[in-house]
Amino acid sequence: MATSHFSTHPNSLRVPNLIGGKFVESKSLTFIDVINPATQDVVSQVPLTTNEEFKAAVAAAKKAFPSWRNTPVTKRQRVMLKFQELIRRDMDKLATSVTTEQGKTLKDAQGDVFRGLEVVEHACGMATLQMGEYVSNVANGIDTFSVKEPIGVCAGICPFNFPAMIPLWMFPVAVTCGNTFILKPSEKDPGASMLLAQLAMEAGLPEGVLSIVHGAHDTVNAICDHDDIKAISFVGSNVVSHAGMHIYARAAAKGKRVQSNMGAKNHAIVMPDASVDATINALIAAGFGAAGQRCMALSTVVFVGGSKPWESILVERAKALKVNAGTEPDADLGPVISIQAKERIHKLIQSGFESGARLLLDGRSIVVPGYESGNFIGPTILADVSSDMECYKEEIFGPVLLLTEADSLDEAINFVNENKYGNGATIFTSSGVAARKFQTEIEAGQVGINVPIPVPLPFFSFTGNKASFAGDLNFYGKAGVNFYTQIKTITQNWKDSVNEDKINMAMPTSQ
Ligand code: NAD
Repeated sequence: MATSHFSTHPNSLRVPNLIGGKFVESKSLTFIDVINPATQDVVSQVPLTTNEEFKAAVAAAKKAFPSWRNTPVTKRQRVMLKFQELIRRDMDKLATSVTTEQGKTLKDAQGDVFRGLEVVEHACGMATLQMGEYVSNVANGIDTFSVKEPIGVCAGICPFNFPAMIPLWMFPVAVTCGNTFILKPSEKDPGASMLLAQLAMEAGLPEGVLSIVHGAHDTVNAICDHDDIKAISFVGSNVVSHAGMHIYARAAAKGKRVQSNMGAKNHAIVMPDASVDATINALIAAGFGAAGQRCMALSTVVFVGGSKPWESILVERAKALKVNAGTEPDADLGPVISIQAKERIHKLIQSGFESGARLLLDGRSIVVPGYESGNFIGPTILADVSSDMECYKEEIFGPVLLLTEADSLDEAINFVNENKYGNGATIFTSSGVAARKFQTEIEAGQVGINVPIPVPLPFFSFTGNKASFAGDLNFYGKAGVNFYTQIKTITQNWKDSVNEDKINMAMPTSQ
């Protein structure tokens, strides 16, 4: 029998939890198979963590908090400095884990790790990021200052599509601010989280500062309900079971702060004056890269002035992409995450076709030699898509590009703004005037101008809006530090008191 890389016993595929600094196998009776989407091989098994184990993880995090919050920020930064070095050292191992469990190509998996690594690098400057403010002599002899203090035990709930980057959006910022953290990786691909936790401990993170509890809905609900957890970071969907808004509401009812990044339908507007080659290449890369399973994937293109002149070249370049297992060096895109996801995407393509869209390229019948049982879908393009079609209303999350048309930039912007999601939107144009109008009027959190996937680097924040985000403090950047800290304002009086024996009953003012 195969042994999982993480299991605590030989001949076991079971992925342990991390509780109080120790990797411990769950006593759960229920485990979920983690499946390689290119082969259907069972890679490992994640437990549905028991309630006792979950409570033990929170208790360990609570116990670790007082001493960790009092650890000088310079020391906490040094753990992150070491951590980023170890991530670089183990980049290939991390990327291989991502590809094995998630399916994306190895090169793309390296990008997944690297975008997370950049957040760790940013956390290395936490002393400056966490600085407070000071106003001297707000009244005679009185000064006021504010400090950003950690809030306690925080938790993170992750999606499957960026198994390394998204955990790294969360716990490095949280713990470097002085919090302790409970991470719930996606049950579909927990491997990268496990490797990262091992590295964080090797880097010197004390026991209990980072814990990992595996599971699905019950574990998430337990996180929302536990009184000792003060803040929750969620990234995932808001479809079917409405995970994102469910978590937002359930945790808020318990008085927690929540940042909830959810689904998307990202649009590109292509103006007739856009550079043809660069635009087509960008649409192909952002539409089909990672098999369309990025929350910032471009899934809908609005061609101002008509799509016809663009269609044949788009199809020709999409056809040239190589669909293969992510471990194969020639792969441009790998499989989608599961058999269920593949079936769902097939249905949405069919419904688009049946409701009148033109199927310019159909990737549904692809077979990849050597990986016949993989969840592959070839690049697919539907044209003449309208806003009432199911394939447009739903987030497809697969290698499917929808094309539509508008007569003017105004009409195109209206079309995009009417969509409920607002994660990202991009314009391709050589006109500064069009670009400026777009950047001002478009209702999306991340805006690209001739940039297909405008995901901000960690000194900015990831700023989705409308149905793509709930909360008010975004992930990473200044907003991320504010999310994981609370402000305490101190007013001090060190003047020589002259009228000490006189009681002043009026509200103190600075006059
Ligand atoms: P998902 O919502 O199925 O799962 C995300 C997490 O929530 C998992 O850990 C899962 O166990 C948990 N979960 C799911 N349903 C739940 C429920 N009803 N109650 C409690 N917990 C629940 O998402 P996914 O399929 O893993 O990820 C893909 C989705 O994530 C897409 O919609 C994508 O757009 C979105 N996403 C958004 C961003 C962003 O920054 N906006 C980034 C990455 C992914």
